[in-house]
Amino acid sequence: MIPALFLSHGSPMIFLDQTPAHDFLVHLSEITGRPKAIVVISAHWETQGFQVMGTEHPKTIYDFGGFDPRLYHLTYPAAGDPALAERIVACLSGHQIAASLNTTRGLDHGAWIPLLLAFPQADIPVLQISVPKVATPRMMFDLGRALARLREENILIIGSGSFTHNLYEFTGQDVAAVPEPWVVAFADWMHEKLAAGDIESLLDYRRLAPFARENHPTEEHILPLFAALGAGVGMDGDLRDETIVESLHHSYNHAILAMDAYAFGG
Ligand code: ZN
Repeated sequence: MIPALFLSHGSPMIFLDQTPAHDFLVHLSEITGRPKAIVVISAHWETQGFQVMGTEHPKTIYDFGGFDPRLYHLTYPAAGDPALAERIVACLSGHQIAASLNTTRGLDHGAWIPLLLAFPQADIPVLQISVPKVATPRMMFDLGRALARLREENILIIGSGSFTHNLYEFTGQDVAAVPEPWVVAFADWMHEKLAAGDIESLLDYRRLAPFARENHPTEEHILPLFAALGAGVGMDGDLRDETIVESLHHSYNHAILAMDAYAFGG
């Protein structure tokens, strides 16, 4: 079955910088094959409650400032999938998760930049689900579990965020700079808990992981990971029962961004 993915999208410059994380995304479809549709839970769409994008032809949103001018000429003209969006709203409602349909929202860069690298033809329908401002790891995990059965239809669920994400600590470090010890300590803890399938510790990462707040002053870039994890586990699954966590990529950009990618339930 097609796995659910967590991708670290890093800086928008990931599209232009020839880094290991860039190369990983370019080859992503070798892992996923060609999905029927793509559902992205991106750190860059924060709303009050859950919203599901039901836009027929979502626009490419340039929700970043001051970057290389070439980035503002890129587009990702994939169609939306309003019928799937409506099904998702109904499915979530069936799992006691309130979500509303948004028929005007476009694609933010947390969605379209990785997709432009991985599926450059833009010929697979794409929609997004938002991250509520009040979201917790467990809320996102439950969202993912409710979506898990979509994988049976070859629908690719992607949580797009960043394994570590403290941009206050970005002071112009080179993209290939040696990572900071407090970044590595957090990433290593996450790797260990993911490899062990220790969901309860992961959901409580903010209390348990070293330097959790330093790496995620706000949570929106790590929350999509829990949605992907939930989509890999499903409603009845138990991470300890089977090997459903796979580390796909591990590198660091700019000394502070762990660019990890994971597959769940592949
Ligand atoms: Zn981001």
